[in-house]
Amino acid sequence: MRTKTVCVSALMGLSLIAMAASPVVAQSKAKKVEQVRPDIKLAPEVEAAKLRDAALKSNEAYEFVSQLTTRFGARPAGSESERNSAVWAAEELKKMGFDTVRIDTFPLALWERGAEGLEITGPFAQKMVVTALGGSGATPPEGVTGEAAIFETYQDFTTSTADLRGKIVVILQPTVRTQTGVGYGVGSGSMRRQGPESAKARGAIGYVMRSLGTEDHRFAHTGATRFLGDEGLPALAISPPDAEQFERLLKLQREGKAGPLRLKLLSTPKFLGNGTSQNVVAEIKGRTRPSEIITIGGHLDSWDLGTGAIDDGAGVAITMAAAKVMIDNKMRPERTVRVVFWGSEEVSQPNDKGLSGAVAYAEKYAIAGSGETHIAAAESDFGADVVYSLNLPKASDETFKATLGNVLFPLNIYADRADSTGGGPDTGPLKTKGVPVFSLQQNGTDYFDVHHTVDDVLDRIDPKKMDQNVAAWAATVWMIANTSVTFAPNPK
Ligand SMILES: [Zn+2]
Repeated sequence: MRTKTVCVSALMGLSLIAMAASPVVAQSKAKKVEQVRPDIKLAPEVEAAKLRDAALKSNEAYEFVSQLTTRFGARPAGSESERNSAVWAAEELKKMGFDTVRIDTFPLALWERGAEGLEITGPFAQKMVVTALGGSGATPPEGVTGEAAIFETYQDFTTSTADLRGKIVVILQPTVRTQTGVGYGVGSGSMRRQGPESAKARGAIGYVMRSLGTEDHRFAHTGATRFLGDEGLPALAISPPDAEQFERLLKLQREGKAGPLRLKLLSTPKFLGNGTSQNVVAEIKGRTRPSEIITIGGHLDSWDLGTGAIDDGAGVAITMAAAKVMIDNKMRPERTVRVVFWGSEEVSQPNDKGLSGAVAYAEKYAIAGSGETHIAAAESDFGADVVYSLNLPKASDETFKATLGNVLFPLNIYADRADSTGGGPDTGPLKTKGVPVFSLQQNGTDYFDVHHTVDDVLDRIDPKKMDQNVAAWAATVWMIANTSVTFAPNPK
């Protein structure tokens, strides 16, 4: 049903483009000529529409993420599994016909989960479903026990003057469900990254937060906190239903029907010292302007709980497939299209560093004297649901966005009037260096239901939705790579 709709509207899109860019007659003439005179070039938007329609039928992205998750499962940053998946991916990219494929290695401090648990002891005894936050500190092997200091919101915690010495902080702030994912951003920055450190500064012996997740299933969602080595506080995320259990107990306390709660918290992660991780970098060399680079990609590492299908096997597969459809259709872009599988996106590092793969990439490729100019960059790191809008940086050619919008509209994607402000986490270090970043906004309404949980597995991906993504990426990248459009750096 869905496929049919897309195909029909794709045809409508072609005539729309033709009306916008060139007369219909000229277009059909060009099509005829294409067969006998391959030296005559079609308008980039006509070629982009061709790639778009080819991508809708390709199924390549789903096949790739299926192979990736089946062969390697979880791919924690710096692990053997992440490394093996990079070697495998590089081999696959070579077989697909990318002109160059390389693996760039960089150093990484390694963290590994240990045993973990949380239970209420004494009255209201109950075990909770938990997971340690990445980079968090450890308890002794027997765990720690203390009174719970419960806060309904993160703001309650930061503004309270309660004595937290010897206590285990519990924060029950829920995550706001949004299409854009902005509800997660608020919590990941403050509640997860800074929360444990603030609790420790106030004398707490443990930190427990409601998972940054939007579903009422009993899974805990991990994610990075600030990396403080052996100085870090043991910090856990609890599943949403367990947070709601605490809410009910808090109500009983307020009604005078329950006394202070005693908790036993166990978490024994380890810092394994220095290791390495790697980026996989593959290119389709530009035909006429090879030093002008468009970088797209996803991150190959995942959390250790699921198999990293939506985060971010999907993004890796979508961007790979968008480039591969050019190779498969024997369409070489004018500018170079570079696909990067960044390593180690998920983990924090000492001294407030993170995004090690993205930093390593930016420092190697986006520097003065490299002989390259990055025209634009974007990452797919928001699952595998459909794309619904495009945000570009301010373009040198004002008609570019409208023309590309016409190509994307048959996919039910609109070109947003607003200039892009971000292009995905791994494009952050590029953006800092002034590289313009763009984004194909995906529907993230359900993304945080399984994000960073044991349930981030292949079954969560709808292949048809992935194909729509690939079509959008292929068309967008082709248009950028085959026009002289340039973009202004995003506003700071
Ligand atoms: Zn991710």
